[in-house]
Amino acid sequence: MPKRKTFTLKNTVKLISWKLRKTYRYSTGCLLFLFAIFFFWLACKKQVDWKKEEVAFGAYVDALPDLRVTPRGTLQNPQTLLVRYVENPQLPKLTKEVRERIYLSLKEKALSVFGYHLYIDEVEALTIAQFFSKKEKAFQTSPIQFPAHDYLISWFSQNRDTEIEKRVREALAKKSPEILFAYFGKEHSALQVAQKFISRLGEIYAEKKPEGNPLLSAHNKEEEIWYSYGHWDTLLYAEKDVDFIFTNIGIIGADNGMPIYVIARGGVTSAFVENSAHRPYQGVGVFGAYPFFADTVFFNRERGVLTQEQKEETVVWVWLHELGHLLLKKEENYSFADSVHRAPPNLKYYEWVKRVRASKNHHTNEIPIMKKF
Ligand SMILES: [Zn+2]
Repeated sequence: MPKRKTFTLKNTVKLISWKLRKTYRYSTGCLLFLFAIFFFWLACKKQVDWKKEEVAFGAYVDALPDLRVTPRGTLQNPQTLLVRYVENPQLPKLTKEVRERIYLSLKEKALSVFGYHLYIDEVEALTIAQFFSKKEKAFQTSPIQFPAHDYLISWFSQNRDTEIEKRVREALAKKSPEILFAYFGKEHSALQVAQKFISRLGEIYAEKKPEGNPLLSAHNKEEEIWYSYGHWDTLLYAEKDVDFIFTNIGIIGADNGMPIYVIARGGVTSAFVENSAHRPYQGVGVFGAYPFFADTVFFNRERGVLTQEQKEETVVWVWLHELGHLLLKKEENYSFADSVHRAPPNLKYYEWVKRVRASKNHHTNEIPIMKKF
């Protein structure tokens, strides 16, 4: 019979202290080992030099060939526009039926306004979470990672307001008093414009999604990149499979290169086109449809209450404006008020639609061609 331990109080205390010493020794060993791995990882991990990355990114863009105007195609041999639909299931959805109607109408307008024969094909549909996780690598790929790293002025950063005012001041300095008056009215000092911008953007983010939470707040901080211009910019540079991404989310936020019409809209970029080394039209675009379909207090007030038909028509005209960049390589235009080449100056998109729809002359031939998007 094996000898049994007698569990006196003395023996129990001894046993516990021995076990503790053993555990302590064991944990210390483990900790030292983990520290060693951590320092080894730190030593191996190259710190990104963002100044160098900026130069490398600039050189990458410069080295891309100058843009060429896309031929109009023919009925038998149209230009193909491949589209991916990306959806945030918490925001108003664009059903397959709605998307197909939009593609059809865009195809018709591309022909009647620009003379393009288009074949539009939606090749993929996925959620925003799936899309960002699939493309995560782009945010660590040099040099196209630079916009994602550099452009965003986070809504949650401590010096947000100072940074926004600085960037607004820079953007306003490039425009004449007449243009500033047209976009901002009488109150167009940098401080006034920046304050209005912050209050508008704050209102958009605070508005509730149908499921009840605000669009962006501390509870979903990590989703800020879904709305970030810089992150979409990197994704467009990385895109190899489609010419346009159509999404029900909005590209809405502050960044360090906002043009005045984005400032005037409170940070809303409806859509944009970026350079591409991979796609036939030398560019890839994204269309963020949330501001067009959201029936929230802010958007109903600023944009107006629109019927489904009017919303869809607005998307088509704004998308056509983007095709003016992507296919015709036309510059952003600030002069011809009733031309489709001039982006909607504010969120009254449908007022803009009524003007450009009635336009007899979009001044297409007078607008210069870009070398880069
Ligand atoms: Zn534009």
